[in-house]
Amino acid sequence: MARILVVEDNVQNLKLAALLLRSDGHEIVPAADAREAEEALSRSVPDLILMDLGLPGKDGYTLTRELRQRATTHDTPILAVTSFAMKGDRERALEAGCSDYVTKPIDRTDLLRRVHRLLGSPSSAAAAPGGPV
Ligand code: MN
Repeated sequence: MARILVVEDNVQNLKLAALLLRSDGHEIVPAADAREAEEALSRSVPDLILMDLGLPGKDGYTLTRELRQRATTHDTPILAVTSFAMKGDRERALEAGCSDYVTKPIDRTDLLRRVHRLLGSPSSAAAAPGGPV
């Protein structure tokens, strides 16, 4: 079981992600935007962050870049969630510092497989050569 910060502005998407992750035994900390995410992170650092890239105000790319600059979240696995299925967007997410990437609509098996892999390898910050599976 892990504690997962879910940053997602869409209520239905947040509910679905929380449902899927809770069904796998994880504790969810929800955040509707970057500001709420910052507040949650100021209280405690989660084991993993599920990051919607399209957020009102500060977007997920910018927030990810900022989190990578901080010692506390430098190595925290960040799994990007986006509706943009194009290859360029995936690369942009990884360049921003995301560890891996899932596409909406979220598939339970795919989500949990990637979550498990990221939780199993703390040094997942390296979405480097070869990239994520
Ligand atoms: Mn969104």
